[in-house]
Amino acid sequence: MSALRLSPELAAWAQLAADLVNTRPRPTDPPEKLSGVEDVERLLAASPEPAPAVGPGDVARFRGLREPLLAAFEAEGVEAFAEAVNPLLGRGAGGWRMAPAAGGWALGPLAPPRPADWFGAGAARGLAELVIAYGIDRLHVCAADDCLCAVADVSRNGARRYCSRTCANRTNARRHRHAR
Ligand SMILES: [Zn+2]
Repeated sequence: MSALRLSPELAAWAQLAADLVNTRPRPTDPPEKLSGVEDVERLLAASPEPAPAVGPGDVARFRGLREPLLAAFEAEGVEAFAEAVNPLLGRGAGGWRMAPAAGGWALGPLAPPRPADWFGAGAARGLAELVIAYGIDRLHVCAADDCLCAVADVSRNGARRYCSRTCANRTNARRHRHAR
């Protein structure tokens, strides 16, 4: 397998998609980790592009992105993956508009997308570019059976099985104990 062709920006978006999905309450980690504007802002701090300002009304919309993004991580094949990401991709840009600007005319977005739509499109694009370049195997669920975190593997060799070093170490320690 050749070295990763994905740009650092797209890799960051794919990672952000996993980060957002992993704020969800799940059996292995029940607390809600996206409860307020500060949580969304913490997520956006890792964005490779300047992030729009978010307000209290955006929090629920960001939470609403988790289900379609999780469906993308859990997709069995590329077609199911495309079905999950296409609605998110379509909500990104709202068209263009030519308008007078300082010193002449300029093209600008018709209306800036809502922050959650902007984020959803960027995250979906990162995942889609990863899958197009490397295949659906790059998206999976953490190999630690007590975790259930989504993993977007943007590593060079595509051998990332765990969401974090913590999960890898915990699982290896347990295997070691079992072996003895
Ligand atoms: Zn994990």
